[in-house]
Amino acid sequence: MKIPKIKLITLPETEDAKNAVGYKWNEIAGTRHYLGGTPDGLDEKDYPICDSCGEKMTFYAQVDSIGDKYDLADCMVIHNFVCFDCFEVKCQLTQTIV
Ligand SMILES: [Zn+2]
Repeated sequence: MKIPKIKLITLPETEDAKNAVGYKWNEIAGTRHYLGGTPDGLDEKDYPICDSCGEKMTFYAQVDSIGDKYDLADCMVIHNFVCFDCFEVKCQLTQTIV
């Protein structure tokens, strides 16, 4: 199953939150959040397998690093996968900037 790509945009509501979002020296990292589509930097052949049924899982969402203060190992993203038959979920860190 493939979900159409749906871009997500952050909306920090407090001063602390506004200060947490984004990078001083990188305008792209911190904005790469979306549902569906294909994960940045990861081939479909490398998608995880569902522990319950053994089938390849569906890519559900990419969540980016938040910013300089809450960085994930040099601007990595979290890839989230789901099995729509068993509702098992898995996530993994992926480096998309090479
Ligand atoms: Zn499954």
